[in-house]
Amino acid sequence: MTEHTLTVAGVAVDTRHWIGGRRVASTETFTDVSPIDGSTIGEISRGTALEAAAAVAAAKAAFPAWAATPRAERARILHAIADGVEKRIEELSIVETTDNGALLRSHRRGVIPRVVHNFRFFADWLLKLEHEDFETRGHTNHVSWDPAGPSVLITPWNAPLMLATWKVAPALAAGNTVILKPAEWSPLTASLLADIAAEAGLPAGVLNVVQGYGSEIGDALTSHPDVRRISFTGSVPTAKRIAESAANNLTPLSLELGGKSPLLVFADADLDLAVDLAVEQYDNAGQVCLAATRFLVEESVAEEFTRRFVEKASALKQGDPRDAATDIGPNIHPRQLEKIDGFVQRALAAGARAVIGGHRKDGQYYAPTLLTDVDQDSEIVQEEVFGPVLTLQTFSTEEEAVRLANDTRFGLAATLATGDPERAERVTAQLVAGTVWVNCFFVRDLQAPFGGSRHSGVGREGGTWSFDFYCDVKNTVTAPNGWKNHG
Ligand code: NAD
Repeated sequence: MTEHTLTVAGVAVDTRHWIGGRRVASTETFTDVSPIDGSTIGEISRGTALEAAAAVAAAKAAFPAWAATPRAERARILHAIADGVEKRIEELSIVETTDNGALLRSHRRGVIPRVVHNFRFFADWLLKLEHEDFETRGHTNHVSWDPAGPSVLITPWNAPLMLATWKVAPALAAGNTVILKPAEWSPLTASLLADIAAEAGLPAGVLNVVQGYGSEIGDALTSHPDVRRISFTGSVPTAKRIAESAANNLTPLSLELGGKSPLLVFADADLDLAVDLAVEQYDNAGQVCLAATRFLVEESVAEEFTRRFVEKASALKQGDPRDAATDIGPNIHPRQLEKIDGFVQRALAAGARAVIGGHRKDGQYYAPTLLTDVDQDSEIVQEEVFGPVLTLQTFSTEEEAVRLANDTRFGLAATLATGDPERAERVTAQLVAGTVWVNCFFVRDLQAPFGGSRHSGVGREGGTWSFDFYCDVKNTVTAPNGWKNHG
């Protein structure tokens, strides 16, 4: 152990940045706190513009060799990283839960295995990635996927390693080098990923990790002229700031932002299924970008839907996320809790009614909340809360349901519960959303396009869409008999 190591449940985590294949400490630190009980986990190197510049320089230096590395070798190393993550699922799970408060059982069974899948999927997709050559009046067109260069990847705290590797894996597969900036409220698993990648044989400088406050190092990363791609997952205000900062270099951006997604429940739906889908929206204490936080329920079934929902939601167990019986853990930070409660108290003051919840609990926990009697243009219906707070409105016609569903500035996802396939097709065609789920929720295949419309994002990632973003796609046209006069 050194002064730069902390331990979480016996797992050692280096608290320094990872730049150019070595650990680099900053003179300043920030304190990482566990949302489970507010205890201090440790002091983390707090990056400045200096470390940001050093990380970009390291990524730039490492780029030519990594870009020239044959695809099969890049894929082999990505699989070796996946192997390393797979071996450490238990360690990564306990560290992530301690750092961000999401359920340990979810990390073990779903979230960290998904990290493994991120690496394996993009390694395999890289090997399949071809556009067929085609002809134009005897000329051949050949499309190639050229690595674009150093890529800045900025990620949030609600699913830290899963969301980071959903970017890191395709960026590395594409032949880009990476500067990863994890969220300051949950930096630990990014540091462990750096160890795992190095052990897997990823050359120095290909993956760099810089820690710190976005407000302090963000601009230095996103305005850097040597950065060729920026992929960001986070809030709308930060996205706007990044877009301004990147504008001078016209650096291509992929933005995965917030949502205020609807769950539409039609009278012809299987009501038990609809209630199951509805209760799922409290997952991760409501800190899920895709969450369907606005229930839009057909009037004739609204009372019965609400009764069954309350019964089921009231049985959820809230508490320590390390306990296997817990369904809902804490919220990430006292500031987030204040924000959540601010939304709820303002809604109640404006005339909303709390069917359940509507208040804080001890520690960093918020009571699962359902609010009714809310206006379509009210703050609670229009703004993302990012906590366990849902609203319920009713509708009487399909047209009204679609109008209410589309009437926010977001367009990330929408979920439908209906027993009528024709209705599903009709409604889906009219919804503004990057993803629509019909009688299901959160099914995400990595080959599917993922992203949001309107203020929920710019661009799509997933499968070939990820390579579209991380590569400079090139078309080479060769003349017929092009070699006639050239020996
Ligand atoms: P945030 O925007 O506050 O922070 C996200 C990241 O941006 C952090 O790493 C932060 O340090 C960094 N950052 C802050 N200021 C910066 C700046 N000026 N320049 C560069 N980077 C900067 O968001 P958050 O609170 O961490 O995350 C919650 C938000 O993320 C919610 O809106 C949620 O919906 C969204 N989200 C979206 C998706 C998606 O896929 N669409 C997934 C998860 C979360």
